Amino acid sequence: PVWVLRLGHRPGRDERMSTHVGLTARALGADRVIFAGSADGPKETVSDITERFGGPFDVEIRDSYRPLLREWDGQMVHLTMYGLPIEDCAPDIRTAHRSAPLLVVVGAEKVAGEVYDAADWNVGVTNQPHSEVASLAVFLDRLFEGRELDREWEDAERTVVPQERGKRVVNPDDSSTAERTERSE
Ligand code: SAM
Repeated sequence: PVWVLRLGHRPGRDERMSTHVGLTARALGADRVIFAGSADGPKETVSDITERFGGPFDVEIRDSYRPLLREWDGQMVHLTMYGLPIEDCAPDIRTAHRSAPLLVVVGAEKVAGEVYDAADWNVGVTNQPHSEVASLAVFLDRLFEGRELDREWEDAERTVVPQERGKRVVNPDDSSTAERTERSE
């Protein structure tokens, strides 16, 4: 499995960003997101999306990330603009992930030095400052080599049917009654 640990959630300020870390983790093939800190809003939103659009995907809140870093029995990647280029690290990470679970850590504000030490790889998605959402998306895509783009979702109440224009959403259990066709905005 792949777990994503989102450090340093600041209530109020980071709501959307933490939510988007969770949604991106889910959509692009991770199995679980862990928010460190008081992230009730993001947890609720990501759980709600999973309920409606399917899973499996788990969402968890932990008061402190430190016990997880200590106890993690697998490989650990920390995404940071100061790290080694993803294009150099990805092959080794893919190989390691074949036999071990992977924890992917992303930050918010300044990330403590202990995280850099705990990580097996400090990985940069370019060495330019950008975003935890963007770096997570590129990382997961490189990890899964694109396979995450085409997966089955279980227990979905809603499934989007791709359209050239407009929106079409069906309930896979009851496509005749729950189908809604809306015009594109
Ligand atoms: N300046 C902060 C620090 O010293 O760690 C980072 C702030 S940045 C807005 C928030 C998070 O985005 C980082 O913790 C990292 O996980 C991610 N991030 C930003 N740019 C990145 C890059 N080029 N490569 C990988 N991750 C990046």
